[in-house]
Amino acid sequence: MSEAQMTPREAMDYDVVIVGAGPSGLAAAIRLKEINPDLSVVIVEKGSEVGAHILSGAVIDPIGLDALIPGWREDPDRPLKTLVTEDRFYLLGPSGGLRLPNFLMPPLMDNHGSFVGSLANVCRYLGAKAEALGVEIYPGFAADEILYGDDGEVAGVATGDMGVGRDGLPKDSFTRGMELRGKYTLFAEGARGSLSKQLIARFKLDEGRDPQKFGIGLKELWQIDPAKHQPGLVQHSFGWPLSGGTGGGSFLYHIEDNQVVVGFVVHLNYANPTLSPFDEFQRFKTHPFVRETFAGGKRLSYGARALTEGGWQSTPKLTFPGGALLGCAAGFMNVPRIKGSHNAILSGMQVAEVAARALAAGRGGDELAEYEAGWRTSAIGADLKKVRNVKPLWSKLGTYIGVPLGGLDMWLNNLFGISLFGTLKHGKPDYACLKPLNKVKPISYAKPDGVLTFDRLSSVFISNTNHEEDQPIHLKLTDPSIPVDKNLPLYGEPARLYCPAGVYEIVYGDELKKADPRFVINAQNCVHCKTCDIKDPAQNITWMTPEGGGGPNYPNM
Ligand SMILES: Cc1cc2nc3c(=O)[nH]c(=O)nc-3n(C[C@H](O)[C@H](O)[C@H](O)COP(=O)(O)OP(=O)(O)OC[C@H]3O[C@@H](n4cnc5c(N)ncnc54)[C@H](O)[C@@H]3O)c2cc1C
Ligand code: SF4
Repeated sequence: MSEAQMTPREAMDYDVVIVGAGPSGLAAAIRLKEINPDLSVVIVEKGSEVGAHILSGAVIDPIGLDALIPGWREDPDRPLKTLVTEDRFYLLGPSGGLRLPNFLMPPLMDNHGSFVGSLANVCRYLGAKAEALGVEIYPGFAADEILYGDDGEVAGVATGDMGVGRDGLPKDSFTRGMELRGKYTLFAEGARGSLSKQLIARFKLDEGRDPQKFGIGLKELWQIDPAKHQPGLVQHSFGWPLSGGTGGGSFLYHIEDNQVVVGFVVHLNYANPTLSPFDEFQRFKTHPFVRETFAGGKRLSYGARALTEGGWQSTPKLTFPGGALLGCAAGFMNVPRIKGSHNAILSGMQVAEVAARALAAGRGGDELAEYEAGWRTSAIGADLKKVRNVKPLWSKLGTYIGVPLGGLDMWLNNLFGISLFGTLKHGKPDYACLKPLNKVKPISYAKPDGVLTFDRLSSVFISNTNHEEDQPIHLKLTDPSIPVDKNLPLYGEPARLYCPAGVYEIVYGDELKKADPRFVINAQNCVHCKTCDIKDPAQNITWMTPEGGGGPNYPNM
């Protein structure tokens, strides 16, 4: 390390430091300032602007926004204007499907009363509200180190150094990172946060809980023929193109301005290493129930992001000395509803209220125990508890038995607050679920047509992903030999397929003989979905924050 990299960092002190300007971090900041405008609150955000790294569906349950900004529905600048008008659920087969009657769906699955729109735009709106209340927001800065105090408590975070070359040495543009010190630090990094992961390990926050489960969600934004646009139409499907043993499904929402969002989620406990979530998504769009929507349309944007699926039984302990986890960093996603933004906002408000009381009592650096003690009996707990068996049933019994049983369990929970199954366990972590190549039937995918279906690189292009190329690779291999020596012979190196951005490749010295393989990391394409950090079977890949401001630049995703 050079002298420049060892110089002490400038430090700034705050009452509360927040990592991540998603719905949870912004809600926490807003609530803190509403309770006490004199509190100093700062947010660091790795995206180039608030919203740049936000990718969601989204059908948004307004319970969170209603609580946080009571007058938002009358605000002319409100980010959500379209209520759900029609709600359809399909079970798909290869050439047809079955529309499930709405009366069969448990009431908690009803999307009427929710809004369709862009969560990134909701965040932009909340960001402006937070700044108006005096919250300092620093987009373009990634928090890449946790600061600890003398007693081992979390004391803040440091942003990464800028202007470091691929060789690890400072360039002419070198700027030392900043220390942001807080009496409390709130980690609102979303699913598989890189610092949250370190905290969970250090403070053993997952002890006694089920392993966290994840899915990868891929999404495109389309401009479609106005004649086909039905604002507020919401469609979900499960079944084809996935096999009965693989969990996941699609979403398709008609938002404003003749735009449609279409997306696909694959549960990351899939077993077949030849499965490619990206190509399953492309294949899904060719289904006869779906493809017509896009005829004559134009794809505007693309992106992908992991989501948490463990819910009630996988939520880690939320607090540790000096800070807390919130939103999807804590795992507050409701899987069957594919909704987490409402709980993200509610968790931000809950932790803010506890932290504000602690600060008013002159505390700091200790544990916000009331937050941990309170969430299971709050609206978040009520939301997650009712659906806690859906994902384990789906994983254990597959789509055709597990999903109907999960539906029955939701009905019983909805009507009588009881479950036939108690609380089921999730089983193995996702990285341990792959079967070796010789135990599976390989899946093959058709070539994209460039009109309805696309390849990874043209897709990444429209995610506006951009990284400074001359910087250390932010995808760290603990053992660089594993991809070629173990993952390739055993699984065909699944990173080539699960990465939705074409970051990982196996390149052969002799392509014809498939000899002399090399593992190549095209880090500049990374859309920060975090799937590699979750699914690598050897847990050999660690996603670290690249230089702040790098990554996708999503518009209204
Ligand atoms: C495909 C998909 C579809 C979904 N559909 C819906 C839906 O229809 N309805 C719904 O309610 N929910 C939906 N969700 C879930 C919803 O998006 C999440 O629950 C919600 O975004 C969680 O909010 P959050 O604030 O916890 O995290 P995020 O929204 O992920 O925000 C985290 C923020 O922190 C930043 N960050 C992370 N790490 C750092 C760091 N170290 N330093 C600085 N900044 C950092 C990120 O850049 C990001 O801006 C969906 C999710 C996906 C992936
Ligand atoms: S490298 Fe990892 S985090 Fe980046 S896009 Fe690929 S799978 Fe996602």
